[in-house]
Amino acid sequence: MCRLLIQTFFITVAVMPLSGMAETANQLTLVDVHRHVQKWISPSKLQSEMEEFNIGWSGGVGAPFGPFSTQPYSDLLKNRYIATIGQVALSDIHKYRGVSGIEDPTTVEYSQMLAEADTLFAKGAIKGFGELILNNEHSTGSPSFQRKAKIDSQAIINIFETANKWGGFVHIHAEDDPESVEQLKNVAAKFPNVPIILAHCLFTANTSLIDGLLRDHENLYCEMSARYASMFSGFFAKKKADKYGWIVFDDKTLDGNWKELIENHPTRFMVGTDTYNAGVNVKKAINDIRNGLLANLSNETARLVASENAIRVMKLVP
Ligand SMILES: [Zn+2]
Repeated sequence: MCRLLIQTFFITVAVMPLSGMAETANQLTLVDVHRHVQKWISPSKLQSEMEEFNIGWSGGVGAPFGPFSTQPYSDLLKNRYIATIGQVALSDIHKYRGVSGIEDPTTVEYSQMLAEADTLFAKGAIKGFGELILNNEHSTGSPSFQRKAKIDSQAIINIFETANKWGGFVHIHAEDDPESVEQLKNVAAKFPNVPIILAHCLFTANTSLIDGLLRDHENLYCEMSARYASMFSGFFAKKKADKYGWIVFDDKTLDGNWKELIENHPTRFMVGTDTYNAGVNVKKAINDIRNGLLANLSNETARLVASENAIRVMKLVP
């Protein structure tokens, strides 16, 4: 999740490309693997959104700002809501204990969260952990929300142990600085059977880095939420996104290096919106995903990225 100032003053008219490939992209069922819920969307609104945009499954992350139950979404949408655990606990731990709290395996919040995870996994009520925000030094606009924690600290290792035990995924928001990348490699190597989904594909502009990570670790995946142009339509948001190379696609174009990267690793990418507040325009996000990202991939890769990778990796069922 990123927390940038986003201004959405302009409504763009969706331009529908006329090629056969684009037509396919517009028909594909999507899995939104980074759909935050909180006060800004009710379960029934989420349901209509999914129907309107042909989103088969939605979720994969939690309520970013703390105490808020996602149970009503599971109650209504059943398996179509990808329930996770961990984001609320981490938000609270960070708020009250800081970064050292995130790295401390002995806190009561972690014991409670891991015990609850066992119960929920046993019931089949959750699919994984996330979004664990472990490094968002640059990818948040809010200083009080910023943190850089050790991804291979014992506290996070304990989360991986639980994911490993239940066959769940771990969805991590980190950035691409060398320390975080090294720590990610450590957990990826230590838990080869746990799928690690890199939120926003590490917010990196370095496609060679991702290429190497995906080659070296078969359990690493990238999701492309918040890597689309309409997320950064405000002047300052765009300026910052350009500075860090966050934007990979808009409503027509996919960056050439990323196209090559995704086509070289078609089974490793997923899509998402990252609706971290009420201001994120889901309609524009979906338009960018379909016409900028999927329409510029081969039909086979587009199908995998749109839904099939998420269905397989997150073990989604109808
Ligand atoms: Zn998020």
